[in-house]
Amino acid sequence: MMITGEHFIAGERSKAGTQQFASHNPRTRHDGQTQFAEATAGEIERCVTAAQSAYAITRHMPAAQLADFLDQVVEEIMALGDELLQITDEETALGIPRLTGERARTTGQLTQFAGLLREGAYVEAIIDTAQPDRQPAPRPSIRRMLQPIGPVAVFSASNFPYAFATAGGDTASAWAAGCPVIVKGHPAHPMTSEYFAHAINRAIEKTGFPAGFFSLIQGSSVAVGQTLITNPGIAAVGFTGSLTAGRAIYDAAAARPTPIPVYAEMGSVNPVVILPGALAARSADLVEGLVGSVTMGTGQFCTNPGIVFMMDDDATAGFIDGVVEKMRETQPGVLLNPQIQQGLSKAVSATAARQGVENLLGGHELDTPACGYAHTVLKTRSDFFRADHALHQEHFGPVTLFVLCESADDLLLTLNALEGNLTATIHAETDEIEAAGALLGILREKVGRLIWNGFPTGVEVVYAMQHGGPYPATTAPATTSVGMTAIKRFMRPVAYQNMPDALLPDALKDANPLGIWRTVDNALTRQPLDG
Ligand code: NAP
Repeated sequence: MMITGEHFIAGERSKAGTQQFASHNPRTRHDGQTQFAEATAGEIERCVTAAQSAYAITRHMPAAQLADFLDQVVEEIMALGDELLQITDEETALGIPRLTGERARTTGQLTQFAGLLREGAYVEAIIDTAQPDRQPAPRPSIRRMLQPIGPVAVFSASNFPYAFATAGGDTASAWAAGCPVIVKGHPAHPMTSEYFAHAINRAIEKTGFPAGFFSLIQGSSVAVGQTLITNPGIAAVGFTGSLTAGRAIYDAAAARPTPIPVYAEMGSVNPVVILPGALAARSADLVEGLVGSVTMGTGQFCTNPGIVFMMDDDATAGFIDGVVEKMRETQPGVLLNPQIQQGLSKAVSATAARQGVENLLGGHELDTPACGYAHTVLKTRSDFFRADHALHQEHFGPVTLFVLCESADDLLLTLNALEGNLTATIHAETDEIEAAGALLGILREKVGRLIWNGFPTGVEVVYAMQHGGPYPATTAPATTSVGMTAIKRFMRPVAYQNMPDALLPDALKDANPLGIWRTVDNALTRQPLDG
């Protein structure tokens, strides 16, 4: 496929802007040949207008038709062939095996949303039937369900060029809800975004969907994203990336004359607690597992285990030596781009310079042609950690910080000082269940996913997944950006009171023509209403 550097605006290619940027190969540090244009305000306006026109159609579309579209997108992504993997590898250095897996996850996600739509219960139909004889006043019939929210702006993430990008989880869940999507492509993989846009447009053409159901705008400046989210036609935002950008987008959305929800998934240090019994029972496995998780994907995962809490004793000292050794032996990977390399350098240098922090390994950029950073191990004590908020920040790369605690009480106190995170992990033996329970009591207030004797990297795309957490992990702790319930972010409940059956959506009609599960007078049923 020929890369042109154009935007895809409701089925039409466009390149009106004069400001340009190129893709970059992090292995060679060379720019690609194609120049990508920054989207102009006029182009962004066209995307939003087209999305609103598309929404007038898709908000009434049967779920099965939306499901067919998602299936077609899968087909078109696969039709791009392995050329897609090559292009993305050039832009991200993530490697073909990882990208092959991520493509499968991305298409799998779309397929699962198609399944959710065909099953139908995702609209959460709830019916409280009328009680005309209720005393002292009759009760009206109230019927509630979820309906789409409107056009959605999605910001692609640099670290997941497929699964959290153009046709990734945010886009898939918004489409499944019936919402048109305008993607702001990430400037670290513009060729990949263009490939995906091409595939999606083919799906739109083949299924006869309105062209404005999808647009891609490219850009490498804050102005593009800000212009998009402050456009009054945008109803919600999906974002994955840094705390700084996520917060700026959240604030801009809140400052609009009509504020809109921003579902931003941002930084996370994913605390791991290793209790003494677990360490005694399986120290070597824990070294292997922890180092594998910290260095996986060159540490560029939002679920990277960034802070490890342990008791300050000889066994822990031996364990940390083992981790340092294993990290030293493990071949460093390539970082996604020079900006991430610079950001990581700055963050690690700042942490290493804080009082009470020891740099045990690494802490510097690699002296190689590729964008690289040494595997890094830092150590501090719990009292320093509690007193210094700067030690709680994310290092986006192959870096972990050990925090050593004096006692079980000290550990509880220290965990209590944590901010919101995506995950927390406890390693413990069965005779440590009571102690672990006390830790869980605290950690449950801080995170979206609690892990027992595992590692946080590797997020399953299943109905029960919770990928979210209290701020600053996200701006919307009641929601998830992975798994099927992610669709709820782009739907809102509407209640119908005493509405004639003919005016109700099918999901709420007496006869239950869709045959979906509904909650009728507090009981789950697929039966039609009597008489
Ligand atoms: P980023 O800086 O957060 O940027 C993500 C997207 O947001 C880009 O499209 C960017 O556009 C846009 N953006 C940035 N600031 C904005 C603003 N004020 N208003 C509107 N849009 C804005 O993420 P990144 O480039 O992927 O990486 C930078 C750092 O983010 C990393 O070093 C890492 O620390 C962190 N990060 C964290 C995660 C995570 O999952 N926790 C994932 C990825 C990155 P432009 O680039 O066009 O300005």
